[in-house]
Amino acid sequence: MRTFLFLIFFLASFLQASIVQKAPWPQGESFLHFLEHHGMPQSIYWNLDKEDKELCEEIRAGVTYYTMTDDNGSTIEQVLIPINEELQIHLVRDGDGYRFEMIPVAYEEITDIFALPIERSPYQDIIKATNNRLLAYAFVDAFKNSFDFTRLRKGDMVAVVYKEKLRLGHPYGLPTIEAAMIEKRKKPTYLFRFKERYYDEKGREVEGFLFRKPVNHVRITSRFTLRRWHPVLHRYRAHLGVDFGGRTGTPIYAAADGRIIFAGRLGGYGNVIKIRHRDGFMTLYAHMHKFRRGMRRGKYVKKGQVIGYIGSTGMSTGPHLHFGLYKNGRPINPLGVIKVTKKTIYGKTRKEFLHYAKIMKEKLQKAVETKACPVRLDDLSKTDYCIDENASVGG
Ligand SMILES: [Zn+2]
Repeated sequence: MRTFLFLIFFLASFLQASIVQKAPWPQGESFLHFLEHHGMPQSIYWNLDKEDKELCEEIRAGVTYYTMTDDNGSTIEQVLIPINEELQIHLVRDGDGYRFEMIPVAYEEITDIFALPIERSPYQDIIKATNNRLLAYAFVDAFKNSFDFTRLRKGDMVAVVYKEKLRLGHPYGLPTIEAAMIEKRKKPTYLFRFKERYYDEKGREVEGFLFRKPVNHVRITSRFTLRRWHPVLHRYRAHLGVDFGGRTGTPIYAAADGRIIFAGRLGGYGNVIKIRHRDGFMTLYAHMHKFRRGMRRGKYVKKGQVIGYIGSTGMSTGPHLHFGLYKNGRPINPLGVIKVTKKTIYGKTRKEFLHYAKIMKEKLQKAVETKACPVRLDDLSKTDYCIDENASVGG
């Protein structure tokens, strides 16, 4: 509750401030560089503990951050930098220095349902109707392993249930497709998001991508959390990966085929390799003792190929692999993806899924019947959100 009140106070003070600036986080900028560029003491970074130092490496290029300066614009009073869609770094001026804390991102989430007849292609038509390029991308991305987009005809239908986050009145992060349908020559294909994965109507997983464990015979020492209130430390925490404890020198394997996009030092993460895979996936391997010879940016690696060895570089209390998995830049729980060996849901979970799918299917069908009109991205920021079911489609 205290945090909540604080957030309101914080946002209020943000609005009253004379100078609030927002900007995209520059490519290649580290948190330490950021402090330097803004004349803020680097001790802010050096005084952080290991988890917070790791999280500083999670700031993504292009993410919108806010700075608030005093009346004459010379002194930075506060800074807000998201590290994922849930949590952000908050720097507040405190005497001669600054206080560093992690606070939740204040956002509201809206759900929209709409149906569209296809004119050109689902991708183009969704953009035309919603002005939301990321939504069109998310739609096509969700279907691409289970649906053949060729030979769609004019008049075939798409229907979508999705969620969009708004931060300070603006769309924020990637929209999430909750359920969707494409009708091709009167034959509908459905897709449902259930426990963070996509399934068809029969409960078969449609994502074609499975990762192997990046290490053998090691134990998990820390699990994935997007946002967690730490009851002892009394603050918010996140751990955007899984830690596998193991002896120094234990081989680390590429979790899937892909291209190395980074191999080098990365602050709190120490020696890091990042691999880009298909379908918007990226894996990160941190604290490595050393890389295997020849592992450098641009190199193509196969699933299971040794890329390096467990170590304790960067901020680390003992040898372990920090393994991160990202989908379209969004951190996701690696265990959900590695553990799955069966591609179909069974048992009690299946019952739960079928019930959920039935409800979502009805929503999609109703959207098609009523020609439910999508909300446009340009209108989202005005926050007067509603679905006009009588409006003509595509408007
Ligand atoms: Zn870790």
